[in-house]
Amino acid sequence: MTKKPFEAESKRLIDLMINSIYTHREIFLRELISNASDAIEKIYYQALTDEALTFDRESYFIKIAVDKQNRILKITDSGIGMSKKELEDNLGVIAQSGSLSFKKENEVKDGYEIIGQFGVGFYSAFMVAETVTVISRALGSNEAYKWESQGADGYTIEPCEKESIGTEIILKIKENTEDEKYDEYLEEYRLKAIIKKYSDFIRYPIKMDLTRRKLKEGSDTEYEDYSEEEIINSMVPIWRKNKNELSAKDYENFYAEKHYGFDKPIKHIHISVDGAVRYNSILFIPEKIPFDYYTREYEKGLELYSSGVLIMNKCSDLLPDYFSFVKGMVDSEDLSLNISREILQHDRQLKLIAKNLNNKIKSELQSILSNEREKYEKFYESFGRQLKYGIYDGFGSNKDTLQDLLMFHSSHEKKLVTLDEYVARMHAEQKFIYYASGESMERIEKLPQTELVAEKGYEILYFTDEVDEFAIRMLMKYKDKEFKSVSSGDLGIDSEANEAEAANTDDENKQELFTYMKDKLAGQVKDVRASKRLKNHPVCLSNDGELTIEMEKILNSMPNNQNIKADKVLEINVNHAIFKSLMDAYENDKEKLNLYTGLLYNQALLIEGLPIDDPVAFTNNICKIMQ
Ligand code: ADP
Repeated sequence: MTKKPFEAESKRLIDLMINSIYTHREIFLRELISNASDAIEKIYYQALTDEALTFDRESYFIKIAVDKQNRILKITDSGIGMSKKELEDNLGVIAQSGSLSFKKENEVKDGYEIIGQFGVGFYSAFMVAETVTVISRALGSNEAYKWESQGADGYTIEPCEKESIGTEIILKIKENTEDEKYDEYLEEYRLKAIIKKYSDFIRYPIKMDLTRRKLKEGSDTEYEDYSEEEIINSMVPIWRKNKNELSAKDYENFYAEKHYGFDKPIKHIHISVDGAVRYNSILFIPEKIPFDYYTREYEKGLELYSSGVLIMNKCSDLLPDYFSFVKGMVDSEDLSLNISREILQHDRQLKLIAKNLNNKIKSELQSILSNEREKYEKFYESFGRQLKYGIYDGFGSNKDTLQDLLMFHSSHEKKLVTLDEYVARMHAEQKFIYYASGESMERIEKLPQTELVAEKGYEILYFTDEVDEFAIRMLMKYKDKEFKSVSSGDLGIDSEANEAEAANTDDENKQELFTYMKDKLAGQVKDVRASKRLKNHPVCLSNDGELTIEMEKILNSMPNNQNIKADKVLEINVNHAIFKSLMDAYENDKEKLNLYTGLLYNQALLIEGLPIDDPVAFTNNICKIMQ
């Protein structure tokens, strides 16, 4: 028998296929199973239009069988089969898709799942097989043909016997080489796992004979192997089912089966869209942070299916970074896939889906926040930081999506409040949204800088996450109200009492004193001033410019720190007893004033949680006073 050469182009393409189109060898099985499923779907489709044909779902299946000894893997289907001509056309010319032509010729409507379209998937079999044999008998024919090929140099075709309609693909699996192991494609457990991974939602049963072990009859120590047929795939994907028929438990099971996480998700979102792009999606909002969530190793993304076949494990384009905690999948028949079904050539549809999902996730979170506060707070504890990063990373461009999802602890109830709640209960004359930053709520509460704002009865947001202040800077305003740090130069509060008192003291002397102190602290503070914000505490630091002291701390703790400094102002409470001592020392004992100035400055640093330059000198100076 003479070998027919492949068409010239096909020859080069087969080489290409074997060596480079697919990144994962295991997908050959996905391709062959998809072809088998297509073949059955075609009979099903014809039966609908051809009255002479009946389609009895029960008798259609795909079967996977292994003969380990002979290194044979067989994929059999009871589909439409191929005639001699079709074998030549479809398998002899690469990039010839019988399935695509079928769809076109028959004007197959939506809802039928013919997967093939590129006419290359079949050749992926050569990635694992040294010989591929196809035995096929077409629907309505009594003849069967055998097609056989060892790869790039051509194929043979000859008549043969086959009892039933359909196709049998016989792969002679390659021998292991030093670098590559092919044995795994003869292992039942491995094949089962590949089927589960890529082809779980193929509509027709994928059957496999699995080896089991049982006690030999009449013995209770000796075992024997036997074989039992099992259906490997789940067939109907949960996302195609009607929402009303599904229970919360069903979704939870799906979440666990898919290994999306070990926790129980706080919410599932089931979406079926029939618009410009058609897709089904099930999304989950987890409750707990995956252990690697805030590390570089964490990969965001949703599973992407095209007509029930897995295309991508983690399609990152479907989720913005700020929602990277969302788990789940998308299935669409409208995606433009490239020939390896791995990357998308035109991602217009994908972009549209991503945009819809983004809106869905946002509104779902919003509704949990409004209706199930406790649940939301749990979620927020895990992923709130990510939302804040989202505002910061986008330079505020995501604020419309995210700002209403933010929460902070506050001075009022020591509970989480939203910005909306804060603004709703602002005092009539209050101009700003006040916040204070620090390591913990306890520390912030003791900050002297909060005194005036707190005395006014204004609520203060507590920023305890490093990202908080940076994110808020990007927001700038919420509902037209600007954010203001309690340590910032001008608090926007008129404190008549304070100013009157300050004016009472000898103004000129006071100014001289402060100038003197400022010179003493040159390089460390930008100014020394009478404080308007202090009530009981003697001193504090505030900042003059945009950069707050808290931000300075955070920036300097980063690996690439550039030793950035906030413009610090040492504020003195002129109503505190200490002020009299300062004035006294200024007039009578400059030595003492120098000592006091150093001590007060260092105290202010300690209150801020900033390191002091020379702790030994500081303690020695305290001792000096005690003596
Ligand atoms: P695609 O599936 O993208 O069309 P393939 O290279 O996998 O490309 O297959 C080429 C063509 O061969 C298919 O379009 C189909 O017409 C035919 N074919 C492949 N496998 C089978 C099968 N098991 N039964 C019937 N026809 C098949």
